[in-house]
Amino acid sequence: MIALSDIHVWQPKSVEDAWKLKAELAADCRIVAGGTLLRTHWQAGSAAMPRHLVSLDAIPTMRKLEEAQGTAVIGAAVTLAELERHPLIGDRCRPLAAAVKSIAAPSVRRLATLGGNLVSAVGDTLPALLVTEARLEWYGSEGEELEPVGSWLERVRSGAAPGNRLLIRIHIPIQPLQPRRNPEMSFAFYRKIGRREAFIPAVVAVAGTGGLAENGKLRNIRLAAGGGATQAERLTDAEEILLSDDHWSENLPAIHNHIQRQYQACTDPFRSAEYRRITAANLITAELWAIANQMGRGETGYAAYS
Ligand SMILES: Cc1cc2nc3c(=O)[nH]c(=O)nc-3n(C[C@H](O)[C@H](O)[C@H](O)COP(=O)(O)OP(=O)(O)OC[C@H]3O[C@@H](n4cnc5c(N)ncnc54)[C@H](O)[C@@H]3O)c2cc1C
Repeated sequence: MIALSDIHVWQPKSVEDAWKLKAELAADCRIVAGGTLLRTHWQAGSAAMPRHLVSLDAIPTMRKLEEAQGTAVIGAAVTLAELERHPLIGDRCRPLAAAVKSIAAPSVRRLATLGGNLVSAVGDTLPALLVTEARLEWYGSEGEELEPVGSWLERVRSGAAPGNRLLIRIHIPIQPLQPRRNPEMSFAFYRKIGRREAFIPAVVAVAGTGGLAENGKLRNIRLAAGGGATQAERLTDAEEILLSDDHWSENLPAIHNHIQRQYQACTDPFRSAEYRRITAANLITAELWAIANQMGRGETGYAAYS
C-alpha cells in the first residue's frame, strides 16, 4: 500500500503536457479529473492507488464551455455543477441537463466532471449523450480525433477502444431556438430509476429526443437506455418501427417488446437483467404515451420531461 506522502500530483497546463506525462509515467499513473469515481474504487480496493496522479484542473481548454455554430463545446473537466447552472445546457440540451441533475449529491457534483462520468463508460450521462448525438474529441498518439459517442461505446464493448487517450472536449448539437408557432413539436426526455430516490447511480436510465409532425408522424426519433454496469446503447429497432408506423401511438405494446428484446441489460447483485429490460421499456413507452396525449390535445412547442 502506498502512503499518501509518496503520491505525486502533477498539474500540467496543457493537454499535450498531460498526455506526455501519462505516456512517460505509464502504468504507475492515473489521469484524475474530479476524483469522485476513482476515490470510490480506491476505497473499495477494486483499483490500486498509483504513485502519480495527473490532474486536469489547470488546463484552461478543458475547463471551458462555449457555443460554436449550433453546438455546445464542453471541456472534459467542466464539472456537473457548472453544467447544471449553464443556460446553454439548461435551455437547449435538456436530456443532458436532466441527467446531470440526477447524479449524486450537489457536493459531489461540484467536483465530478462530465469527462470522468463519460470515460467510466457506465456514467448516467451516457443515454443523454447518445440521443443528442454527442461527439468526443480525443488527444492521443495520432493527435486529435473526433468520434461519435455511439462508435466509442461500441469500441469499448468490443474491447477495441484505445486506453491511452485523453478526452479533451464533448461536442453536443443543441436545440435551436424555435419560433413561437412551430407546427412541429419537438420533445426530449431523460428518466432515471435508482436503488433509492436520489444521490445514487442508476439501475436504469433512459433518454429520448425527436419531433412530432402535424400529421402525427414521428421524426428523427432517438432512444437510448443504460444504467448500472450496463453500457448505454441506442434502441434502434424501436426507433425504426416508430418512424415507419403512422399509428405508432396505438402500437406501444409492440414497441415495449422491441425495447425489451434489444436492450442488452446485465444482472448485478442488486437487480436482474430482466428487471432492467422491463423497466427501460416501461419508462420509454410511458414517455411516448405522454407525447401521444399531448399530440391529441393539439399542443405544439417544446416539451421536455425530466
Ligand atoms: C456518493 C457518490 C454518488 C455518485 N452517484 C453517481 C450517479 O448518480 N451517477 C453516476 O453516473 N455516477 C455517480 N457517481 C460516480 C462519479 O461521481 C461520477 O461518475 C463523476 O461524474 C465522475 O467524474 P470525476 O471527474 O470525478 O471522474 P474521476 O474519478 O476523476 O475519473 C473517472 C475515470 O475517468 C478517467 N478520466 C477522467 N477524465 C478524463 C479525461 N478527460 N480523459 C481521459 N480519462 C479521464 C479517470 O482516469 C478515471 O478512470 C457517484 C460517486 C459518489 C462518490
